Amino acid sequence: MARRILVVGGGPAGTFAAMAARKQDPTAEVTLLTREPFEPYEKPPLSKAVLVGDVAPADALIAGPGGVAAHAVALDTCADCMAIDRADRAIVLGDGRRLRYDALVIATGALPREIPLLPIGTPRVHYLRTCADALALKAQLRACRNLLVVGGGLIGLEVAASAATLGVNVTVLEVASRILARVCDEETGAAVHAAHARRGVDIRVRTVLASAAPLPDGRIEAITGAGDRIAADLVVVGTGSRPDEALAAAAGLLTNDGVVVDAQCRTSDFYIYAAGDAVRFPGPDGLVRLENWRHAQDQGMVAGRNAAGGSETYATVPSFWSEQYDLYIQGIGWPIQGGTRVHRAFGGDAMLVFDVVDGRVAGAMGINAQRDLAMARRLIERRIQVDAAELADPATPLAALLKRS
Ligand SMILES: Cc1cc2nc3c(=O)[nH]c(=O)nc-3n(C[C@H](O)[C@H](O)[C@H](O)COP(=O)(O)OP(=O)(O)OC[C@H]3O[C@@H](n4cnc5c(N)ncnc54)[C@H](O)[C@@H]3O)c2cc1C
Repeated sequence: MARRILVVGGGPAGTFAAMAARKQDPTAEVTLLTREPFEPYEKPPLSKAVLVGDVAPADALIAGPGGVAAHAVALDTCADCMAIDRADRAIVLGDGRRLRYDALVIATGALPREIPLLPIGTPRVHYLRTCADALALKAQLRACRNLLVVGGGLIGLEVAASAATLGVNVTVLEVASRILARVCDEETGAAVHAAHARRGVDIRVRTVLASAAPLPDGRIEAITGAGDRIAADLVVVGTGSRPDEALAAAAGLLTNDGVVVDAQCRTSDFYIYAAGDAVRFPGPDGLVRLENWRHAQDQGMVAGRNAAGGSETYATVPSFWSEQYDLYIQGIGWPIQGGTRVHRAFGGDAMLVFDVVDGRVAGAMGINAQRDLAMARRLIERRIQVDAAELADPATPLAALLKRS
């Protein structure tokens, strides 16, 4: 009998898991379940091209133009998975159906981290995770003159850049001493900050939101910890995300701020795998959680192949990208302590910084340096010995350093 594989969650982790499972075992019956009514779409454009342009989420399908059907995967939309019956190896859907599995992949992703002062559902307050969220924000941005963004992380700043491009006045509140503190080094963060300032975005660091209340005309008045008052037509909250582990936790799977998996993406149940933003997995220094597209794709593929009989290990060099104005910001590598910083001297708005440990590149962060960063990934993955002077010299192609290995 054909192996039945169910995948819960229509983000990149679930979609790539389903496609990889079917490729691993072409006789398997693979079904991708998503609670949304559409073919799985990419989330990165939601804070960028969807807000500023005519791009619709349906223009960027994760599985490509033919959708998952082109990869022999069945798609079940509006399928809200309510429970996992582990004893019977079945999932229970909101419409009452029970679907049995031989192997299950959980890829339920993450949810926005809500702040009590501005609960989800408050009029004129937006959180951004789904296509519906992006389209609601886009519709209201048209008539918005003053936007307040709470949180100077990647999503908040991408929305700030999109809104500023549309001519909206934007204020960003960031509680830390600098923006992008969780993802970027100080120098890269400062370059991004300067790009926003040049477009008139008012970024206020070391600033907490102390209160928020509606004004008589419907706008929202925010008061900062320092007592400054900001009247905003709209507020976007970008204060991070938390793993959507409810389904796994209710089924008694091991969770710890994320569904805990081993190096082969297997949960505490032999028949259940998990991948993506929802997951905590073994990193170089213990269990970690990552929230980026590439991780979701790569870990999803490993989980899918293993659910279909494979026995692969997921080992990754994490990376992220962000687009703000004409800046393409990228970071690669695990956070490290005590490395040597090497700057590759570019001109213009491009920059590239390496972290070198014991003569090897351990991390790289750059702006508008895509080609070099692709090479830097290979230098990191292959643990190649490098010469700091050559790394710093833009006349030495990084490809040449790769060839020397
Ligand atoms: C606006 C935005 C912009 C981003 N931009 C970038 C970027 O530029 N670069 C980058 O590297 N990363 C970016 N990311 C992050 C990246 O998109 C995520 O890391 C990635 O989507 C995680 O994939 P995932 O499959 O684990 O989870 P998700 O994409 O969150 O997908 C999980 C899916 O599971 C569904 N689901 C959950 N529970 C159930 C259930 N019980 N039943 C059925 N379905 C369920 C959810 O509805 C959701 O569709 C961005 C994210 C957002 C929100």
